[in-house]
Amino acid sequence: MNNTIIIGGGIIGLSLGWQLAKKGIDVEILERNNAGRSASRAAAGMLAPQAEMGFEDIDLFYLCRKSLDMYPRFVEELYTDSGIKVELERTGCILPGFDRDDAERLRRLYDFREKIGMPVVWLTGSEAREIEPFLSPRCTGAIWIDDDAQINNRLMLDALKIAFAKCGGKLYEEHNVEHINISNGKVTGIRVHSTELKFDNVVVAGGAWSKQIPGLPENLMPPVRPVKGQIINLKLNDSCRVTKVVRAPDVYLLPKSDGRLILGASVEEQGFDTEPTAGEIFRLLERGWEAVPSIYDLPIESIDVGLRPGSRDHMPIVGDSEIEGLFFATGHYRNGILLTPVTAFELSEWIATGNPSEALRGFGISRFYKETV
Ligand SMILES: Cc1cc2nc3c(=O)[nH]c(=O)nc-3n(C[C@H](O)[C@H](O)[C@H](O)COP(=O)(O)OP(=O)(O)OC[C@H]3O[C@@H](n4cnc5c(N)ncnc54)[C@H](O)[C@@H]3O)c2cc1C
Repeated sequence: MNNTIIIGGGIIGLSLGWQLAKKGIDVEILERNNAGRSASRAAAGMLAPQAEMGFEDIDLFYLCRKSLDMYPRFVEELYTDSGIKVELERTGCILPGFDRDDAERLRRLYDFREKIGMPVVWLTGSEAREIEPFLSPRCTGAIWIDDDAQINNRLMLDALKIAFAKCGGKLYEEHNVEHINISNGKVTGIRVHSTELKFDNVVVAGGAWSKQIPGLPENLMPPVRPVKGQIINLKLNDSCRVTKVVRAPDVYLLPKSDGRLILGASVEEQGFDTEPTAGEIFRLLERGWEAVPSIYDLPIESIDVGLRPGSRDHMPIVGDSEIEGLFFATGHYRNGILLTPVTAFELSEWIATGNPSEALRGFGISRFYKETV
């Protein structure tokens, strides 16, 4: 059976590697730093297809929804293979509005969701505060979505590393892939530490750095850029015990089972810069405080910064390419944690059997072939 190398040990590379190893495929992951330390660790861990989507993203919405439906099987298998139980928490999510502008925007979102059959509930301000008492009394109305979920993505990364190794995969950290080797329309392997290694399949799962790996023909460089995200980890205490996800305008507040309240996230075009900055932190705190005033006294635990892999159309790039043996699993942008099961299950099956995935149709790199990268 074909041997496969995965470039990048983020949540996407690790989960795909684990699923390939489970199928008996000889698979290695090369990670240039430490696995699971980049965007996948900084992420909040929301699995929120319904709260996240705008009007224009219907194909992406269905893919996200499919992935959320796959999550129970994913965490169950992960438990079997790693011994670590990653809980799928159905926290429920509230989208509050505070003025006329918000109310109009929420009403349009509500109508759109109802039209496509999504389970949403419209709440008055006082109904919203019954569900989440820490919400500001200024809340005039809200949308309630009770089946959006979340997971502990840090724990999931630990579990994936164990499961991958137990199933026979090999992870090499501090291995920077320097070149992808291609000859006569076929992938032949990669170069690492100035050594050429032969592989039948190469999967590009390098997150925000995916476009930078040398060796790809220009039309196959995935159009992925880093989109900086800063989050603040507050420590919940009795002065503020938010239990629901609050997605206010320009900020979300996400209570985690480890006692954190995550305030996130900035969306910035700053190249590969990962410095936390006062302006964005100030803005997150201000918008968070407007939505839930009692965060004012919460201690700050830490600030995390990550680089989302944002493709040109903000859809993931997952599937094969015109080069035999060259696959992509990148560009997951704001939904990489949510899209992990569908990427891992569907792409591993595709690589193992050679049969393209129906679910991933339309998400391949070929959609960019005619454009200039
Ligand atoms: C602040 C923030 C909040 C987020 N919140 C959520 C959320 O709530 N829900 C959600 O679904 N998504 C969320 N996301 C998005 C999610 O984190 C990403 O989509 C996802 O982590 C991408 O995973 P990845 O494995 O592709 O990338 P990464 O985790 O970035 O991993 C890519 C890896 O590839 C390695 N690499 C790159 N080039 C090479 C090379 N040449 N050789 C070897 N290794 C290489 C890198 O070192 C890195 O470790 C959030 C992101 C941020 C920044």
